[in-house]
Parts: sequence; structure tokens; C-alpha cells
Amino acid sequence: MTESFRGVEFDREAIVAKNAQEREKRFRADGNTQYVHLDEHSEWMTDPHTPRADREAVTRDVDVVILGAGFGAMLSAARLREAGVGDILLIDKGGDFGGTWYWNRYPGVACDVESYTYLPLLEETGYMPSEKYAHGDEIYAYSRLIARRFGLYQRALLQTLVEAFRWDDAISRWRVETDREDAITAKFIVVCPGHYRSPKLPGIPGVDDYAGRAFHTSRWDYAYTGGDSNGNLDKLADKVVGIIGTGATAVQVVPHLGKAAKEVFVFQRTPSTVDVRNDHPTDEVWFNTLEPGWQKRRMENFNRIAWGQPQDEDLVNDSWTRTNFEHVCRARGLSAEEMAELRSRNDFAVMEQIRRRVDEEIHDPAVADTMKPWYERVCKRPCFHDEFLSTFNRPNVHLVDTDGRGVDRITEKGVLVGDTEYPVDLLVYATGFDPTPYLGFPVPVYGRDGLSLGTHWKEGARTMHGIHVHHFPNMFIASTTQSAWASNFPHMLTEQAEHIAYTVKELIDRNVNVAEVTEQAEAEWVAHHEELAAFLVEFWGQCTPSHLNNEGHITVKMMRDGSYGGGVDGITEVFRNWREEGSLSGLQLQKAAESIST
Ligand code: NDP
Repeated sequence: MTESFRGVEFDREAIVAKNAQEREKRFRADGNTQYVHLDEHSEWMTDPHTPRADREAVTRDVDVVILGAGFGAMLSAARLREAGVGDILLIDKGGDFGGTWYWNRYPGVACDVESYTYLPLLEETGYMPSEKYAHGDEIYAYSRLIARRFGLYQRALLQTLVEAFRWDDAISRWRVETDREDAITAKFIVVCPGHYRSPKLPGIPGVDDYAGRAFHTSRWDYAYTGGDSNGNLDKLADKVVGIIGTGATAVQVVPHLGKAAKEVFVFQRTPSTVDVRNDHPTDEVWFNTLEPGWQKRRMENFNRIAWGQPQDEDLVNDSWTRTNFEHVCRARGLSAEEMAELRSRNDFAVMEQIRRRVDEEIHDPAVADTMKPWYERVCKRPCFHDEFLSTFNRPNVHLVDTDGRGVDRITEKGVLVGDTEYPVDLLVYATGFDPTPYLGFPVPVYGRDGLSLGTHWKEGARTMHGIHVHHFPNMFIASTTQSAWASNFPHMLTEQAEHIAYTVKELIDRNVNVAEVTEQAEAEWVAHHEELAAFLVEFWGQCTPSHLNNEGHITVKMMRDGSYGGGVDGITEVFRNWREEGSLSGLQLQKAAESIST
């Protein structure tokens, strides 16, 4: 039966059936094990941006070691410095600040959350982004600006891989082991693992047999392609290029390959949603009218609209927010069930419009048909691009749809799908990132009595607030595990950084030597997390498989490792109430040369 919502007609039953059918095609029994998880030392991981420089091993004892030099780490460091905790050391394997924006410099790299909401600390730095959607080179440059502004370069060990953290009870300190043979101890560690840090490859036969040039998008080789992150890949003019994947990264890369290469084959397993982007330069006059506190208000407004919660204004006003705001967030006086139904009808209408856009943009109806996404919009990362779809009208660009199966194997010459071999000169893997390290942990960590975090979390993560872990004193985590997931990650990281800095400062001021969350407080948070996660489990269960839902394998461990059901607003309130209560509740505190108290 056809129904209509805000003028868009759709057949709900038929769509639900089609979504389920496409999900079924894509589902694989091997789940995450279908991928090759790359070792830190493998050639695929070599840093193409900064040649490795030799340095002397360092011996240091500091108040705080921060793992990472991306936004999470920089925010934590900035807030710690503001709180007066200056004895900090950031350690990152990258050659500079930026985290994901250090590594990902592929052509077209940009952020599709608007820059005024995405780039953290804009009020503190006074920086005005040049466009509504910042390109990767600007975000990377801005990362370095933050590092300079907060004096982080002199507090960082870059090109340094942390190989393990070990708690040493005898000295009440963490020992930090690196690949540079440093001897570093720290009273506290703050782990900012980053979300998309470990590139993954499909675990199909032949990857090592391929004789041409191949790399992952997060290690782009401009020496081979020419050009830079803004495109102009002039060395590809006589090259045939294959790219595996059509996720958020590929959507940004493909238009540049289409413009530059002799021929391009795009291997698709699941189409992305590709909505309107409509980028434009920043209006300086408008930017200068923003009142103090504007960025926090904007982050909150974006987040609430993205979640379809009541809001009186749409500050961001783009394709992420507009329809939600107009047709969901302005509704008043509805029950929770009625709001859920409104969100659902809006989603059917949005997806129908996104599929219609494919028909409008792509001339060949057969190609258009295979590029239509069939799932609820946020089952996969929504994409926004104004050139991706029309790139498939170019005579040199070919879509190779694998009907949900994926490519079959890599040969010496190229890619095999079914019985057809596609020989290519360059093979680009836009195949995403391994979710395991961030749901688990980026480096081995050994707490009291040598207990490894992997063992403690074998049946799923156990934390208080996603930050503290029993058996692992003086350790703080800033990740999505049992903490908030946000479409705008820096929003979540901003809240976590403020909270972690407050706690570290309080522990120092209160002369606390060792702080460890109690088993009971940890268990209470896990129970609360599980209760709130129920609706997320239901949602992810009906989604097409992807890295966001453990490849469609919905397990208790996945739910425990996953994000907090209360969202950023919920976790922010938990943090705020905990700070206001003031007793550092749930933490067992051991003061220097004193007995244990709670
Ligand atoms: P994704 O995991 O989103 O996409 C990987 C792609 O590779 C998918 O299309 C996947 O298909 C495909 N793939 C994997 N294995 C095979 C195979 N055997 N055969 C064919 N295709 C295969 O990774 P991305 O790098 O695109 O994005 C990762 C994340 O980075 C995003 O979720 C987003 O959060 C972030 N990002 C953000 C941007 C921004 O603007 N803020 C821009 C770019 C990335 P399938 O979908 O079927 O699994």
C-alpha cells in the first residue's frame, strides 16, 4: 500500500521486504573475519607522508601520557593544560598531529559534517574555517595550529609506536613501552585510540599476487598518481585504475579518479546514500556575529537534530539536518511512540528521495538501479557529494556491481568478479578500517597483577562511563565504547576531554596516588549500559551488515563494546552530575602514603 509523507510517496511494505532481501544477500557467516587485519609493521602501513627519523631513546617520568595525537588527544591535552596540568606527553605513531587527518590525505578528502560544528576549539583558537565543509588539508593544518596554540609539539613523541602499557604497583605508575626503547613512566594514562586507525583489506585470495601498484586509501601514494588531496592526479592519464569499495571514502575519491585516469573500475558491494552537499565559502560577516558559547550550542543543536529530538531552530541547516528539523524536530506534544513513527516515516521519505536522486544524476538506468541504497539511512555512514553519482556518466568510468557478494579474488593482473577479470595498473583499496581495535583496544594494556585488558574484556567491555576500568588504575579512555557515539565525533571527544581533565586535576589536587573504579561501580555502569543498549541492538539487527553493526552479527559482546544508548546528551549529563556531586564516586582512592578510602 502506498503512503505519503511530506509529499513523497512510498510503499512501506515493499521497501521493508526489499531492505531485508538486500541485507540477506550481503550477510556473511564469516563476519569480521572476512577481512585481513593489517599488522602495524606490515608494508601496507608504511607512512607515505613523513620519512622515519632516528632519535635517541628518552627516559621520562610524567604526570600524564596521552596515547594519540588526533582530536581526542589534542582536546584532552588542551583541557589538561587549561586545568594547570602541564606535565604531559602525547605519543603517536604518526609523523605529526591530526590523527585520522594525518593519515587520510587521499584525493577529495574532506569532512561532511560542517566545519563550524566539526573542527574543535574554534572559539579558543579564533580560527575561521574557509568553507562550510572543510577539506582534509585544511583540517590537517588546523590540527597543527591547535598543537602549536596549546604548546603540544614540545610535549609530544611523534613517529613512536606504543607497544604496551604496564601498571607497576611497586611505583604506582604506568610503564609505557615503545618501539624506540624509551623508558617512560606516567602517573596517569589517557587513551585516545581514534576510530578509524587500522586499515583493513578484504581477506580474499590473491591480494599478495597482484603485480601492479596497490595501496589503501589511508596511505595514498602521490608519487605514483601525481596530484595532491585536491586532485589533479596527472600521472594517471595512461593508467587503468580499480577501486574496491563505495563507502564514505570512495565517494570522495572516485570523482578525482574519473577526471584523471584513462579508465576506472569501481567495485561495489553495497551502495552508499549520497545526498546533496552544496559546499560554499564561509561568510566572514556572519562568522563574526557569532556570540561566545556558539560552538557548543551548535554541536548540541546538530546532535539533537541528527537524533530527531525536539529543537526550535536548525543552526546547521544542511542535508544532515534540514528534513529532520522540518518534519520531526518541530513536532510537539507527541508520545515517544508517535515520535518514533514520525522519525520512521521521515526516513522512508528521505531514502526514497535519495534513490530518486540516483535516477536524476545517472543517465544509464541499469547503472542507476544498482546504485540505489536499500536500508535505513543511518545503517551506514550517510554520504554527501555533488559529483560522485554523475561521475558514472563518464565513458571512462565503469561500475562493477557484485550484487552484495564482494569481489571474488585478486589476480596477478587485477580483480576477478564472477568469471570476469578486470586488469588494472593501480588497485586502490577503499575498504575501510578494522573496528576491533577501537572496540577492544589499540595497544596491549596490562593492569594489576599483569591482567590484560583483552582478558578482562573477553565477554565484552566493562567500564564506568566508558572511561574507567577496574584492575586498571589511573587509566582514562576516550572512545565510543560504553560512551557516546556521535555523528560529529569531536562533540563526544570535547565532552570526554573536559571530564577527564577535571578528574585528573582533582586527583592531583586531592593528593591521590592511585584511583581505581570499584568492581561494583563498574558492574552498575555495565548493567545500565545494557539496559539502554536494547533499542540499539534492535536497530542494528535490521541494518545491512557493515563495520557499524559487527557485520550484522548481533552479539552480547558487540552490545557491550558498543556505544551508550543515551547518546552525547545522556553521557554529558552523567558526567556533569558526577562532577557536581564532587566525591569522585565509584573510584577507590589511595592517597600518597595513606590507607585506602572510598
Ligand atoms: P567503509 O567501511 O565505510 O567502506 C568500505 C567499503 O569497502 C564498503 O563499500 C565495503 O562494502 C567495501 N568492501 C569491503 N570489502 C569488500 C569486498 N570484498 N568487495 C567489495 N567491496 C568491499 O570505509 P570508508 O573508508 O569508506 O569509511 C570509514 C569511515 O570513515 C566512515 O564510516 C566514516 O565515518 C568515516 N569517513 C568520514 C568522512 C567524512 O566526511 N566525515 C569521509 C570518509 C570517511 P560494504 O558496504 O558492503 O561493506
